[in-house]
Amino acid sequence: MSYLTHASRAEAFNLDHERTSWHDETLWFVRQKRDKAVYAVPEFQELRNLASAIKDHTLSRLDEYLAQFEAAAQTNGVRVHWAADAAEHNAIVLDIIRARGATRVVKSKSMLTEECHLNPYLIKEGIEVIDTDLGERIIQMRDEPPSHIVLPAIHLKKEDVGATFFKHLGTAEGLTDPQQLTEAARQHLRAKFLAGEVALTGVNFAIAETGSVVVCTNEGNADLGVSLAPVHVASMGIEKLIPRLSDLGVFTRLLARSATGQPVTTYTSHYTKPMPGREMHIIIVDNERTQQLGRPDFRASLKCIRCGACMNTCPVYRRSGGHSYDFTVPGPIGSILSPNIDLKKHSTLPFASTLCGSCTDVCPVKIDIHVQLYKWRQIVSEANHLPTAKKIGLKFMGRLLASPTAFKLSGSFGRRALRLLPYGLTHNQTVNAWAIARELPEPPQQSFREWFAQQPQPAT
Ligand code: SF4
Repeated sequence: MSYLTHASRAEAFNLDHERTSWHDETLWFVRQKRDKAVYAVPEFQELRNLASAIKDHTLSRLDEYLAQFEAAAQTNGVRVHWAADAAEHNAIVLDIIRARGATRVVKSKSMLTEECHLNPYLIKEGIEVIDTDLGERIIQMRDEPPSHIVLPAIHLKKEDVGATFFKHLGTAEGLTDPQQLTEAARQHLRAKFLAGEVALTGVNFAIAETGSVVVCTNEGNADLGVSLAPVHVASMGIEKLIPRLSDLGVFTRLLARSATGQPVTTYTSHYTKPMPGREMHIIIVDNERTQQLGRPDFRASLKCIRCGACMNTCPVYRRSGGHSYDFTVPGPIGSILSPNIDLKKHSTLPFASTLCGSCTDVCPVKIDIHVQLYKWRQIVSEANHLPTAKKIGLKFMGRLLASPTAFKLSGSFGRRALRLLPYGLTHNQTVNAWAIARELPEPPQQSFREWFAQQPQPAT
């Protein structure tokens, strides 16, 4: 089976130059907001060190903390379920819904349920699922996946939202005022909240000592859904655990600043036990996470708190759009999580990076993202998943760079060729994709080595 590459999907995104530039600038604006918020906290680097150490520690004793969490949650009256994979997770959710005789579900943002493709599964079973996060609701109406983990509709402009609401909510044609569009969504969602029979939420943090789950939103939609519906189902990956309640502040201080540049997320809600007469369920999902945990080079990727900062800073993500990754979590972190799930299908993602290391620099839990991308490249190559042209090219470059003589001769040849060959050939976009959007540099008269040899040498 052949798959579309990241490059070919990115090429399609780049056909709309205006949108690409706007996407790039918008995310860079978020990155700058993050920087301002970070510089306002003198101990930010200490917080990063602490968060990284807490997550390392938790992952090293994950089995113990999971058992502790389960016992504490059960003591609180919560029903805890374990799902080995997406299919089991979805079946558990459906069982809970069916046991209540329910058909209407309101859902707050959860990348795990996206990963499990829960919405199409439930809709096929006759359940109405309404995403209540504004961005998620917009893309749900458009039948698109999220393109960012924090800003799911960041690829859309207000004109796109206006057209979507005109079609699905009956707003005035051509309406683009964000406030009026938000008000229309609010009215539409209010009715859905009131009718919700089961509220699904994700989990940002799960606290082992208390058995509580913590959900962070800016819209309060998780709170409203859970407050109104008689059943709350919270889905969490096994990596969401932190040991103690006192650890939480370290992460909440990092999360909002890294994600959107806010000092704190608007709503940080703790769910510990069901209200009287109601039900609360927590589904703990593996779905290949233990496989990643067992890979020493990549286990640190499980420290991710899904802030999205690595996406906002990544020059490749900003100019290729989240859909070009074809994976639930796009961007640099998605490119090290996805090969764990399907190496062949996602074999081009570790190459969707300049390896500049900006992702690693902004990551609040200090994941060595660019190092892991580089390691996946080697695994992809060893597994023979490189396209033939790239495989031959890399082998050729490996030999060339290993031989000083060959390197010297090719440099000399290249400088001459660039001077002598016609522009139409050196800038032919079929032969030289590099030249599609860039000028080639003026070739120098001599190499650095030649220039250096002509310089006065220090006396020995
Ligand atoms: S890898 Fe780091 S920067 Fe990227 S989303 Fe996860 S926590 Fe945020």
